[in-house]
Amino acid sequence: MKKIAILGSTGSIGVSTLDVVDKHPEMFQVVALTAGTNLELLKTQIEKFSPVLVSVLTAEHAAQLDRMLSGKKPQIMHGVEGLIAAATAPDATMVVAAIVGAAGLVPTAAAISAGKDVALANKETLVTAGHLIMDLVQEKGVNLYPVDSEHCAVFQSLVGHRKEDVSRLILTASGGPFWSWSSEKVAGATINDALNHPNWSMGKKISIDSATMMNKGLEVIEARWLFDIPVDRIAVHIHPQSIIHSMVEYLDGSVMAQLGMPDMKGPIAYALTYPARIPAGVKPLDLTSLSGLTFHRPDPLRFPALDLAYQAARSGESMPAVMNAANEIAVEAFLSGRIGFAAIPVAIEKTMELHEPHALRTFEEVLEADRFGRRTARKVLKFEE
Ligand code: NAD
Ligand code: MG
Repeated sequence: MKKIAILGSTGSIGVSTLDVVDKHPEMFQVVALTAGTNLELLKTQIEKFSPVLVSVLTAEHAAQLDRMLSGKKPQIMHGVEGLIAAATAPDATMVVAAIVGAAGLVPTAAAISAGKDVALANKETLVTAGHLIMDLVQEKGVNLYPVDSEHCAVFQSLVGHRKEDVSRLILTASGGPFWSWSSEKVAGATINDALNHPNWSMGKKISIDSATMMNKGLEVIEARWLFDIPVDRIAVHIHPQSIIHSMVEYLDGSVMAQLGMPDMKGPIAYALTYPARIPAGVKPLDLTSLSGLTFHRPDPLRFPALDLAYQAARSGESMPAVMNAANEIAVEAFLSGRIGFAAIPVAIEKTMELHEPHALRTFEEVLEADRFGRRTARKVLKFEE
């Protein structure tokens, strides 16, 4: 029995994780769940999986959840303290980090510090604090399994090979909903246009990141840390069918790829059971039903966010954390209708221009860089504090 804690259980990845768990009740036991504000869904999950501990966003949400539950209740906590308690739950051996945004950093770091293996969906953790997290993983001797489909594909394509023989990683990107749109049309994209991803059904923030291609930029930085490879040896190919999930090119010219239907239950299951494979409810791939697999170069003019992420990665130090924070503010502003789609990368770029990168030696310094990025992005967007 693998005992797991799921941070962000009511999100897209959280729900898919519980789907996989539900198919294999003999293999997994859920010991802790955390959610933000979706108490109805959390209640259903509690009734089905009987965790001993749950955490929600605020004390009010905790009180409300307590009133909604009857019979044997789990311990109900809230806030960062609750997230940390779930991430370090004594019984858990694996933590699924599926909170969105930099809010995932502190609990993920707490899980690693407590010696838990981590199935990592929260890419922002590695974008903001990659070096500190990887050092902590080493120090604690835990395993960090990527859930992001591209990184899971790279991970699978590295098994059985020597790291020194790798020449490049090639991350694939669907291109998002606007891949074939003109610049003018992209500039006028609505929230619904941007949320309408062609191949994947995901949370709102990552859906917008996919539309701007910042998601791929965050993934380049994530890969840089996970696989300890310079960003200039990480390439991005647009692959609109999302069948090849990423590739590793070796010194002899061989390329190893991982293929499958685009369904996050595949990477989630692999992270939960590595090196074993279990049925996860992913439809088998029928290559004969596809009309072709195509690949294209990204277009930096229509999608400047990818280049901003490469720039931030090359600057290093505090720049990726500041870029990530500016992105979170700009995406929120777009989702609430305050700015247009084209203003997202502009706000990120201006915020980066106003930042002088400096070394980040502690998680507190990462959080300070995050706060600087948020503050500066709000100023750039002329929002009242
Ligand atoms: P989502 O928005 O659907 O879910 C996020 C979860 O985190 C929810 O349970 C929410 O309640 C919780 N949450 C949000 N803010 C919080 C906060 N401040 N404190 C506590 N909890 C909070 O997001 P998602 O699409 O499931 O993505 C989660 C993470 O996984 C992201 O980092 C994303 O980049 C990554 N990821 C997602 C997918 C996907 O297919 N959805 C694929 C690859 C990677
Ligand atoms: Mg991905």
